[in-house]
Amino acid sequence: MLQFRRLPFRARLTTWYALVLAAVLLLFAAGSACVLYFQLLNQMSHFAIQDVETIEGLLFIAPDGRLSLHEDYHNHPQSRLLLERLLEIRSPDGTLLYRNDRLGNDELGGKPFAGEGVEGFSERSGRLKDGGRILLVSRYYRMHGGPVMVIRLGYRQDAIWSRMKEFLAASLVALPFFLAIAAVFGYQLARRALYPLGQMAQRAEQITAERLNQRLPVEHPGDELGHLARVFNNVLDRLELSFEQLRRFTSDASHELRTPLAAIRSVGEVGLQNSQTAAGYKDTIGSMLEEVGRLTKLVESLLAISRSDAGQVQLNLTVFSPLDLVKEVAAFFEVLTKEREQKLLISGDADLHVKGDRLLLRQAVINVLHNAVKYSPVGGAISVSVTSLTSSSVIVKIADSGPGISAEHQAKIFERFYRIDAGRTRDTGGTGLGLSIAQWAVHAQGGEIRVESSDEGAAFVMELPAFLKSS
Ligand code: ADP
Repeated sequence: MLQFRRLPFRARLTTWYALVLAAVLLLFAAGSACVLYFQLLNQMSHFAIQDVETIEGLLFIAPDGRLSLHEDYHNHPQSRLLLERLLEIRSPDGTLLYRNDRLGNDELGGKPFAGEGVEGFSERSGRLKDGGRILLVSRYYRMHGGPVMVIRLGYRQDAIWSRMKEFLAASLVALPFFLAIAAVFGYQLARRALYPLGQMAQRAEQITAERLNQRLPVEHPGDELGHLARVFNNVLDRLELSFEQLRRFTSDASHELRTPLAAIRSVGEVGLQNSQTAAGYKDTIGSMLEEVGRLTKLVESLLAISRSDAGQVQLNLTVFSPLDLVKEVAAFFEVLTKEREQKLLISGDADLHVKGDRLLLRQAVINVLHNAVKYSPVGGAISVSVTSLTSSSVIVKIADSGPGISAEHQAKIFERFYRIDAGRTRDTGGTGLGLSIAQWAVHAQGGEIRVESSDEGAAFVMELPAFLKSS
């Protein structure tokens, strides 16, 4: 079995095909043999019945009073059969009245059984003393001016069996030939059918990570192979996109990591070159720690993104009030807004509830609110509202009084590492990851996030699935 599994697919296919064909042919031969057997038996019984009728006409009482048979039937068309017949005639009480030479000392049964041959012809199978199987036909007969008798006529079934043997032998001899021819054709067919698959495998082998832009040719779009090629090409499309994203992400991430690292290094080097007072060193260390803080934030964001990409984040769904959540996050920014003399207005309905992961949503609100604080001018105003337009969703809107976001950037700001003004936002501590993390966090709980912008500032709208008390 193990050896069989190691065979090439087309060889296995051909073997299965030949085996199934052999089974079908054998079944067919067996079925045909059965049909042939019953046909021959039928024919034989038909002849036997005719023969019994002939015998009735040939019987006569000899001058010595014994029952006899005219043997001059050689012109009879079935005379060959008549010669082969085994004939026995008994009176109903079992007395033997006649037995032909071919039967000799053998017999076709003893005393006739009740009703034997009375109604038409009794037909059955029997055996001779030598074990030979015979077809037996009996007929109850009242001879005109003679005795009442049961005529029994038997035919050896050997002829039928030898015909059967001939048929089976011929079938068994022909079978391997048929199989050989079918296997050769089957193998060729399998080879031709599998050839395009081999070609596809060869082409697929040449596609590496560096050549992900290559595709398999779709030669027969309508059939299974065309379908396979299309599916494979679709997988390649997705792989190429993922590889591209990964490549971009890795290069962007390393670029982002390099900047604070370079800053730490240069601040450190400058600090070491000039001998300074304790206050000077403290300053240097402070600057370095500031960069380390930025680095830590970046690494944390990268970690959050890689976890989300790997699908490792398990949602912890609870029912909570978004207004409470917004108030909690606003308290977190109190020091910063005070420092920037900004007004933070919070309004909304405390009875509105959503079902989601509170921690994830908190992260999204932090990121968006932090941007609002960062990009609103000193003395500006930020408003956060929690409302609902339909019963199925709750809307959290964070609007600021910053420069706003032009239409061309609106679609891109949710992309990773995308910053409208890289130089300026780096100064404000931006990594270009905040909004992409916020978008993922909102999407993860079945919500939507979009940006609306006007001359007065930008507004981020989060639409979250509402928790209906009855549900
Ligand atoms: P960052 O950490 O740089 O702020 P984000 O992903 O949070 O990264 O934002 C991407 C970019 O979108 C920012 O660099 C900024 O240019 C722009 N942006 C985000 N929020 C605002 C806002 N409230 N007002 C103006 N521009 C914004």
